[in-house]
Amino acid sequence: MTTIATQTQGTTEGPSLDGDNRNPVFDELGFPKDPNNLYTQTVGSMLHAADMLDLQHRVKIILAQPKNEIMVHFPVRLDDGHHHLFKGYRVQHNNALGPFKGGLRFHPDVHLDDVKALALLMTMKCSLARLPLGGGKGGVKVDPRKLSADEMERVTRRFTSAIMNDIGPDYDIPAPDVGTTAQHMAWIADTFQMSNSKTAYDGMRVVTGKPVEVGGSVGREKATGQGVADVMAEILPQIKIPIEGLRFSILGFGNVGSWAARILQDMGATLIAVMDHSGALRCDTGIDAHALSDYSYEHYGIAGFEKSKAATESGKGGKGCDAVSKEDFYSTPVDAFIPAALEQMIGPREAEMLQCRVVAEGANAPCTPAADRVLQRRGIEILPAILCNAGGVTVSYFEWVQNKACQIWDVETVDRELNKVMCMSARRTLLARQRYECDMRTAAYLAALDHIGKVYKTRGIFP
Ligand code: NAD
Repeated sequence: MTTIATQTQGTTEGPSLDGDNRNPVFDELGFPKDPNNLYTQTVGSMLHAADMLDLQHRVKIILAQPKNEIMVHFPVRLDDGHHHLFKGYRVQHNNALGPFKGGLRFHPDVHLDDVKALALLMTMKCSLARLPLGGGKGGVKVDPRKLSADEMERVTRRFTSAIMNDIGPDYDIPAPDVGTTAQHMAWIADTFQMSNSKTAYDGMRVVTGKPVEVGGSVGREKATGQGVADVMAEILPQIKIPIEGLRFSILGFGNVGSWAARILQDMGATLIAVMDHSGALRCDTGIDAHALSDYSYEHYGIAGFEKSKAATESGKGGKGCDAVSKEDFYSTPVDAFIPAALEQMIGPREAEMLQCRVVAEGANAPCTPAADRVLQRRGIEILPAILCNAGGVTVSYFEWVQNKACQIWDVETVDRELNKVMCMSARRTLLARQRYECDMRTAAYLAALDHIGKVYKTRGIFP
């Protein structure tokens, strides 16, 4: 078994995004000099590891930019009879390992550079997990909370129609992300299949994360949270933090956060504090993650507890639950903090407030590079997103395989195979960390790039 020392900190400097030490690839490809840009930050982390690995220059420049960036504008009739013009994206980062794969996000803050960053992370995630899939991501700039169910369906179907020629069951396979669910995937699959008579039922393979009754896989809904818990269970005992009795807090109580909380609780850990966009709750004797999830499904039809006061008053969060401020939430003492909301929510200020030993990234890119530096200085271990939250794409891959082979796996098989993939990815990361004496984020990139680098070396570059 690979072991890691308690509180070992990376000996490598983080990536430089501006100034004299800026990676030359940025200037070669004409990147803007904005260190706060998520895409620049993500490419910076990738290039930092690529340099340590001595990755071929041609692979570095290929991975520093997406293969395709698709932007569409499409009109949709709203319930009041007016038409609104929506903007949507699909970014196909890399398909050297297999078809493009990645979620679709419905959110008012969807921007091209963020989608590009998330697509790059997907390439890295699939490579680290050794899945035969590439990286993609997409989104629509829309606030789902402001749409009726009918409007949502029309937006989804019309967006599918707009990107129809750019997706496909063996080319680019979207999945749910923030603001989208299995229902959205069913609408996409149906629209795709209805518009492509030659694909017949096989067209349903165009998306994963579908409802089970239309070809989805059991275990997909909880898969990302399950993967977070699997990685924590594999790594934390090695730094002398047992899962049994672990105290943790969660930022974001949607799909990833609420499932991670429920599964960790079932493993013997205790949820102490939770925050979503509407408020924060804290209870030092433990919040019942199952009751909180049930409450939010019952009252709002979604994971996410909304209106923390209501949850507190109802007693569903657990006895002694208090609604607390953002600052109180971040500074609650716990063993592990799980950011599972959106990108870049943990800046240096939040990183200084955290009172934990480990940050397990359920969300994509939740910590800024400046926050990373604070966490490293403070001796807080980071389990990076490309390792920690790969459970979703892994079970999406299982769904795709089941659809292709006309098979139906049971939940025990899905959970067992997921656990294997997550544990192997964790071990690859720990090995790279030992070999290169670096922080865990860089190690995960190193393990991912090592694989994709070998693939490019063997395949060569056309022509
Ligand atoms: P979701 O929409 O189900 O949940 C998002 C949660 O974040 C909600 O609880 C929301 O209230 C909270 N949130 C949003 N803005 C906030 C704010 N300003 N302050 C506090 N909380 C806020 O989304 P999800 O599917 O759980 O995804 C969460 C993260 O995990 C995203 O980064 C996503 O890309 C990543 N991820 C998701 C999956 C998946 O399978 N769903 C897979 C891999 C990675």
